[in-house]
Amino acid sequence: MFLRNAEPWMDGSTLGEHLEESGVSRRSFLEFCTEMAVILGLGSAAAPSVAKALEAQKRPTVIWLEMQECTGCVESVLRTEAPTIGDLVLDVVSLDYSETLMAAAGHAVEKAKADSMAKNKGGYVLIVTGSVPTKEDGIYCMVAGRTIREHLEEAAEGAAAIIALGACAHWGSVQAARPNPTGAVGVRDIIKNKPIINIAGCPPIGDVVTASVVHFLTFGRLPSTDREGRPLFAYGNRIHDDCPRRAHYDAGQYVENFDDDAARRGWCLYQMGCKGPATYSPCPIVQWNNRTSWPIGAGHPCIGCTEPYFWDTMTPFYRRLPEVGGFGVEERVDTIGASLAIGAAAGVLTHAGMTVLHQIRRRKSMKQVPEHEHPATEESHNG
Ligand code: SF4
Ligand code: SF4
Repeated sequence: MFLRNAEPWMDGSTLGEHLEESGVSRRSFLEFCTEMAVILGLGSAAAPSVAKALEAQKRPTVIWLEMQECTGCVESVLRTEAPTIGDLVLDVVSLDYSETLMAAAGHAVEKAKADSMAKNKGGYVLIVTGSVPTKEDGIYCMVAGRTIREHLEEAAEGAAAIIALGACAHWGSVQAARPNPTGAVGVRDIIKNKPIINIAGCPPIGDVVTASVVHFLTFGRLPSTDREGRPLFAYGNRIHDDCPRRAHYDAGQYVENFDDDAARRGWCLYQMGCKGPATYSPCPIVQWNNRTSWPIGAGHPCIGCTEPYFWDTMTPFYRRLPEVGGFGVEERVDTIGASLAIGAAAGVLTHAGMTVLHQIRRRKSMKQVPEHEHPATEESHNG
């Protein structure tokens, strides 16, 4: 949608003014807003309201901290197609600090970060990827001579909201896998006094990040979440419920080997270790690489990377969920899902209820969107 680097965003001007000066058509902007409104579960009819709220925004500031991580999350969000997080972070928001994306280095960027946090105190969005090491006083991840924990606590202090991007940032994930040599934990274990949203996945889908930022800019707050902090507009459904191979599961038609005839026919991957029955994620709907494909679509089982304490809870990846199989076992599959998600028996029930609400909301028109979710009834982030 946006014309990257077409015109510098002038201090004090709104997004609407900036887009106009950059030659972005109204139609193109509305297409972006329509896609965002649909992903957020508001319905396409809400696009004009989202557009109105967004174009009134002054340029929001984002600080992006990268802790113990593999950079996969950054790669994922930069490789989505329109509307892209690349568009968003490079053209719409002011990304004042990101170790992977910024060209500068050294003391100059540390000073720029400190200046930006001071200037925008209380108003910037903090994006965090990776986990926090806690053993040995946090020396396993140091930036500019200070532990990443110090950087996190300092940046969180002035943040309006925190986006924990990826499984590492919320649960520790790969680094926290047994025996967790660095004592890795997620952001929520360190920061207790700020709203944190969990964009789960290893890595997560970039469109979900974009939509969460748009929600924050439109409504002035983070979207509604489940008990694990995941936004319900994206994580309200199980993979298993939206999976195109589901009919084969119900019919007892399973792949037994990756090169057997059933695999070529696209049958269910449950026997190959698919964790779809225990995993909440929008992968079957939003997909990856400009909606080209997704893991199950490419013939690989879901590994459950959006669930609590992935990796340990979902390995071995190629071992099937216990005692689930055959015809019409949906009720038992739900039970397994509950046992896999740590302490999640109540959570699955709550989630199931929220899923129903989510599905109902998706089917309804904009006028049936709850009043508090409608842009026109909210004050925007910048008032
Ligand atoms: S969540 Fe996965 S992709 Fe993201 S930083 Fe951690 S290991 Fe890498
Ligand atoms: S077990 Fe996996 S492949 Fe089979 S229907 Fe469920 S999500 Fe799809």
